[in-house]
Formats: sequence, structure tokens, C-alpha cells
Amino acid sequence: MRLFIGGMRGSQPATGGAFEEFGGDTTSLLLIGSHGERLVFDAGTGMRAVARELARTEPGKVTLLFSHYHLDHLAGLMMNPLFYRRDWSFYLIGPTFADGGVRDAVTRLLAPPYWPVSWERMDAHLEWVALPRPDGLLILRQNLQVRGCLVPHPGGCVAYRIDDADDGTSLVFATDLEWAQRTAAQETEFLKLCREPKPADLLVIDAHFAEADGEAFVGWGHTCWEDCLAIAESTGIGRALLGHHAPDANDEALRAREEHVKKRNAGAALARAGQWTTI
Ligand SMILES: [Zn+2]
Ligand SMILES: [Zn+2]
Repeated sequence: MRLFIGGMRGSQPATGGAFEEFGGDTTSLLLIGSHGERLVFDAGTGMRAVARELARTEPGKVTLLFSHYHLDHLAGLMMNPLFYRRDWSFYLIGPTFADGGVRDAVTRLLAPPYWPVSWERMDAHLEWVALPRPDGLLILRQNLQVRGCLVPHPGGCVAYRIDDADDGTSLVFATDLEWAQRTAAQETEFLKLCREPKPADLLVIDAHFAEADGEAFVGWGHTCWEDCLAIAESTGIGRALLGHHAPDANDEALRAREEHVKKRNAGAALARAGQWTTI
């Protein structure tokens, strides 16, 4: 599989010359399976770059998988020009929380007064699939197996694991989780997702904070990078990409953080927008 980072900024986009290296767009990633299957994680403003990459491939089916519906993971829906083309089909899949599910969130946003063109008038084929349970198993086009589990985050969030049955590679995508607030059951489920049936090849994870940020951000829904490395080490995952960068963390701050990260784990790095990774 190959993974493209359209954006990995958290909470709000950032702009300007101080944010060029790691990028200022919010979370949206594109995964290409070994048979060319296309799966997009979340639709933050990085969706614009993801759509550019999709447009280089043959028009057809795309699965858009949502972790949850906070605006930093939805705001790029309007930036997807492929929604206005008849030859593309999007299967929008996501969990249902107390505040609603994928259809509620997307149809509310892609309609006036928030956007001039209602989703009903878009040319692409849009279809909704509500995950029956967050830990349900989905099989997509036979080769990509998708599993999920609930992780601690205000309002709820789902972490996903993708296994490519054909080439045996695997990825865990865990944005927006507050590891320090986990219950024992959430810890068990998430660690299982990471290590079963074998440790994932790559962990993409929310590392919004540092341990030094301390108590000030308890309840904000995010994890410190030190905990992310501990998760990777304890589950035997060799490679990690840390993301959901804080909106005010500029390139200089993130480069300094990456130095600390690499000293502790040479297989870990901070995610950069525009980067392709082979899994
Ligand atoms: Zn977020
Ligand atoms: Zn969130």
C-alpha cells in the first residue's frame, strides 16, 4: 500500500511561510491499496491535495472513511472538485455517535447556508454507509480489510486498521485520541487493533501535545508524542508517523520536536503534507 499525506494539521489550518515544511492543511490522507483501491481518511482541508492526487488516477470508486465529524476533519469536503464530476463515485463511511452520523454531518455542511451547492446537486455519485458498530469489520473490494475501535475523544472518535490481504501490509490510523483519558476497555481494544493479527507496519497517530504541556490540556482530546512512541513500542510497531500538529506549532518547533522523537525511536517521524510513504 502507499499513503499520501494531504494534511496533518490539527484543530485549525495554519498558513504562512513558517508552516511550509510540515504543511498547514488539516487531516486528510489517501491510501492506495495493492490493487489500486482508493481509500481517503477524513476530509480536512488537506482534501484539496488528496483530490489532486486522485485526479491523476482513473475516475471511479473512492471510499471516504471518517474517524469523526469535528470541523477540522470535514472542512475540505467543499474543496473536492471531484464531487462535481459525473465519472467519480464516493462511498462515505463513518460511525454514528450521540450527535449523529456520517449522513447528518456531511449533508448539513454541504448545503446552504454553509455552502452554495447542495450535495443533492453535485454530479458525482455520493453514497452513505453508517458503520453498524465502531468495531465492525468491513471488507472493501476484497483486498482491503477495515477494522475499527472507539478511542477517547470528546463526542467520540474511531481509530481504523487497514490490512491489505493481498500483500500482507497493514496500517493503523488513529487521529484524535486522548490516550491519558482511556478506560481499561479502550486500552485493550486499541492495543489489540495495533498488534493483531500482527503488529501493524505503520502507525499514524495524533501527537498534538508534548508531556511538558502538562495538565493544562486535559480533556482537549489529544495525546502527547511521548505516549505515541510508548504505544508503538509496546505493540511492536516499527514505524510511526506523528500528526495532528497544533495550529501554532511552526516548522521550527516541529523540527525540534522531531529531533527528540528520532532520538527515542529512529522509526518515528512527524508527518509532512505532500509526503508519499510506502507501507
Ligand atoms: Zn482533529
Ligand atoms: Zn476531534
